Order: sequence, then C-alpha cells, then structure tokens
Amino acid sequence: MADSQPSMHEKLAALRSQYAERIDARVDDLCDLLDVFGDANESKRRDILQKLREATHKLAGSGATFGFPGVTEHARAMEHSCVDALNGDDNIEVGLVDRLRAMSDQLRKATETQSTETQSEAEKFSTQQDGTSVGREDNPHLHDSSRQDILIVMEYSAEQERQTRLELAHFGFNVRIVDHPQKMIADLKAHGGVDIIITGVHFDDSEDAAFKALGELREHSEFCTIPVVVYSEIDTMTSRLGAVRADVKAYIVKPVDMADLVNVMDDVTERHEEEQFRVLVVDDDESLAQHTEIVLQSAGMETRIATDPMQIYEVLDDFSPELILLDLYMPGCSGQEIAAIVRQREEYAGIPIVFLSGESDKDKQLSAMELGGDDFLTKPIRASHLISSVRIRVARFRKLRSFMVRDSMTGLFNHTTTKQLLDNEISRAQRAKGSLALVALDIDHFKNVNDTYGHAVGDRVIKALARLLRQRLRSADIIGRMGGEEFAAVLPDSGVNEAGRVFDQIRKAFSEIMFHTGDKSFNVTISCGVADFPRYDSATELSDAADKALYAAKHGGRNQVVKAQ
Ligand code: GH3
Ligand code: MG
Ligand code: MG
Repeated sequence: MADSQPSMHEKLAALRSQYAERIDARVDDLCDLLDVFGDANESKRRDILQKLREATHKLAGSGATFGFPGVTEHARAMEHSCVDALNGDDNIEVGLVDRLRAMSDQLRKATETQSTETQSEAEKFSTQQDGTSVGREDNPHLHDSSRQDILIVMEYSAEQERQTRLELAHFGFNVRIVDHPQKMIADLKAHGGVDIIITGVHFDDSEDAAFKALGELREHSEFCTIPVVVYSEIDTMTSRLGAVRADVKAYIVKPVDMADLVNVMDDVTERHEEEQFRVLVVDDDESLAQHTEIVLQSAGMETRIATDPMQIYEVLDDFSPELILLDLYMPGCSGQEIAAIVRQREEYAGIPIVFLSGESDKDKQLSAMELGGDDFLTKPIRASHLISSVRIRVARFRKLRSFMVRDSMTGLFNHTTTKQLLDNEISRAQRAKGSLALVALDIDHFKNVNDTYGHAVGDRVIKALARLLRQRLRSADIIGRMGGEEFAAVLPDSGVNEAGRVFDQIRKAFSEIMFHTGDKSFNVTISCGVADFPRYDSATELSDAADKALYAAKHGGRNQVVKAQ
C-alpha cells in the first residue's frame, strides 16, 4: 500500500528534533529565574521557586522521552530541591541558589547529548521480527470487513461443494477447494495466500498425508502463519495429537452447522470487527502529548489530545474515549481534579483513568489515585509498556461494558442500548438534516423450529442470523436483538428504499442457509418492516411504522420486506 503519510519513525524523529531545538532556550529560562532569585525578597523567592519547580517538573517529565535522560535526572533533582525548600518552614536560605546553579550547570551539560534509545524502543515495538510494520495500515484488527479468502482441503461431492460455496459466500467468504492435502501448497502458490485453511484429516485411508502437508506448510515463510482449522468426522487421540503438533488452531468434529463453523473461524482469525481503541491524552505539554499519541497510534489506536484540561468536558462527549491518560500537574486544574470530575458523570464512572506523570513519589501517586485513578505510569515510559498497559485496560473495560450493553448470546446490542442508540442517531440526523432507516426483523414461524428441532437448534438459528447481519451491514449501522427472535437495525444516512434493498438481500441470503440436525436439514426465513426518518420524525413514530410494516409482511405471507411509505 503506497503511503504518503510520514511513518511513526519519521513523526517521532521530527518531535525529537523540535524538542532538541528548544531545550537550550528552556534551560536559559531556568537560569534567568536563578539570576533574579539571589536579589529577591523572601515572598518573591517563593514565587520564583514555584515557577522553577513547574519548569523543572516539565523538563524532567519530557527529557528522557525525547532522548535526554540526563535532563530528566538533573531537572528532577532540581525539582526535588525546590519542593523541599517550598515545604520547609524556615526561610529559604541563600545557599540554595548556589546549589541550584550547580545543578543547572549539569542540566545544561546533559542537553548536549541526545541518545537514540527511546526512538529505537518505540520503533522496536512497531516492527515485527520479519521487518514488517504493524502500524495502522497493517494492523490485522483493522482490516476492513470485506470478504475473506478460505481454502478448504476436503473430498467433496459436486453437490456438497456447491452448497458449501453458497453458504460460506453468504457469510462473506471466497471459497477455494482442493480435494487432497498434497494440492494445498500448490494451490496457495498458484492463487495466493488465504485468511484461513479448513482441512479434513482422513485421506488415502490415513491421517499422515494431511499432517505431513501441514508440516510442509509451516516451512513456507509466506504461508506459515495462516491459521488452520480441522473439520472432520474423525475424533481420536492420535488425530487430535497430530493436529496439536501441526499447530492447528481449532478442531471441529462433524456434523456441525456452517454457522457454527463460521463462529469458530471468526475466533481463530480474530475477526470481530474490532473497533479501534479510543484513548484521550490530557497533558499540558504538547510535545509530550504528541509523543504519546504517536506511540498509541502506531499500535492502531485512535487518540485525541487535550492540552487544556478545561476542554475535556466537551471532548468526553464528543470523542467518548475508552481510557483517559492524565498528566498530574497542569495549570488551571490538576489531574486529580479532572479524575474526580470525570467520576461525577455516571456514564464515565467506569472508564479507566491512568495517570502518566513524572511524579515518582509513591505517596503522591497513591493519593492521586484516591480520587478515581486506576493506575499510575511514570514518565518516561517505554513505548511497549505504555501500549500494553493501555490495551489491557481498554480491553477489560470493553468486556465489562459489553455485559451491560450487549446481548450475551449474539453479541448484538440489547434492547435498552438499541433504543438509546436509535435516539442518538435521530438527534444526529436532525442536526445534520440527514436521514436514517429503522428495520424491524422477526424470524418466521420460529416456534415451529423450536418445537421440531429443539431449543438449542433454535439458538443456533438466532446466532447464524446475527452473524449474517453483522457481516452484511456497515460498521456504522446499529444492530440490536430486541428480544427472542426479534431484531432491529438502524442504518444512518439511508432511506427506506436503500434499507429495503439491503434487507431484501439479507432475507434472500438467510433463506438459502441450510441448518442440519441429526439427519434432517431445514432452512428458515425472516420478515422485515422498514421505515425512515424524517418521514417519521420521532423514535416512537419510527418504531411504530417499522412494526406496522413488519406486521404487514407477516400477513402478506412472510419471507418478505415491507416498506412503510
Ligand atoms: P411468526 O412468523 O408470526 O413470527 O411466528 P413465530 O413462531 O416466530 O412467533 P412467536 O412470537 O409465536 O414465537 C416466537 C418463539 O421464539 C417463541 C419462543 O419460544 C421462541 N424464542 C424466543 N427467544 C428464544 C431464544 O432465545 N431461543 C430459542 N431457541 N427460542 C426463542
Ligand atoms: Mg417470529
Ligand atoms: Mg416474534
């Protein structure tokens, strides 16, 4: 992929050289403060010391990050002397200025050597052993949700093959099939790599051929990372051991629905349409905030910077971050105070707040956390540590939140959340003078499915429909399970005709998926009602109109989409 954007390496290098250019001037400012210190009276000295404390604190926090570890060391020593003097009850003694001056000389010296350490640290993280970058463009979680290529190694009858292709196509897969493991590598070489390989194990009356071929696959550097799933009627200790040794990611015993197989494949390829993690960086030092931003973006995260802590109230609602990285000492409002403000808002009570500060005093760190912080990271921090600590917390936050907003069986939004999101989308469409469509969907004669094949089979049908909806709709669309076998979808910027077309395709695709249980096979249909905003201009009217259209679809014979006009 051609990329005209500067790489993370280039961006960090630019920040470092900007910092190096300005550092002399910053030390000059410190020395100017020291010059007036000697002549000042007691109360003036306190003011100056306070300013010195702030300036050295900032230098200490940023120096090592930009390749000046000595600056951090000496600035921190000066900061501590200032704090001690400010906290002491006695008058500020004159000898202090000489000591600070001696320290500032060392600080000045430390500005002369910029190491390359932090840079390579950040780079190391974004570069895999084989030298490929895992930056934004290459992050495996960020692939768009277009189709996946799959290679199936299995003996098939023509009819089975046709059916498999059809069903997997509905779930968004391009299928290639070879009928023997020996042909696997040749096929990959001829037609290119795939996202996943599914293989049987029993060929030529033995399991050797399959596992031997998988062993050979691992020798090919371009194909060795393709995840492999075994899909077989054979379930023995030796075949499972063979699979483990061949680094197989999952072992599925037939018979199983295509929908279940697809779920396993999603797990294996980690394709859960993972949204980028959203991190808000609050730091009054702009270059440090940018540094943090670049590091997090290199790991595929979305970031927003607030250099003025007073902005964050608006940024919270606009950006809805999933983690806040907070500097501790900022003018106007401290990090602790911000944490307390965030916690006052019910909807942000659970958001992870991580302090990222130069403060190394454990007592101060702990007292900062009392008002709502979850963790305390000390600047400078290695890029890889920052990334993992953010990643772990956001992942856990998402998991916890998903219990509240998602339906556990399908992973779709639950009833309450879907209604809330519909309200939000209507307000947004109102502001933007745009449109949106609401679709009400219900499975036809679902009671029969349960009665005939059992509740567990019914559940599989519901899950398959949820997977199909996720695969067919855009990431901006909202899909909810409203209860039982009823679903709703909100399609921003769509009218009733467009949404009607999309759902008619979904209706058709779903009706072609075969479900298997025991020796019986069956298929299931759905009915949909579609209405749009602004034709119906409130949540209640819109929902009523979509429900009425659904009712009409049921009465019109089911397996159809009806538009409210
Ligand atoms: P119609 O075409 O008119 O929608 O008929 P229907 O049978 O689908 O509608 P009805 O509302 O009469 O039945 C819905 C059934 O869905 C009844 C209920 O047992 C079943 N159901 C609801 N939730 C679940 C679930 O989570 N799993 C399973 N397996 N069945 C469910
Ligand atoms: Mg129904
Ligand atoms: Mg129903």
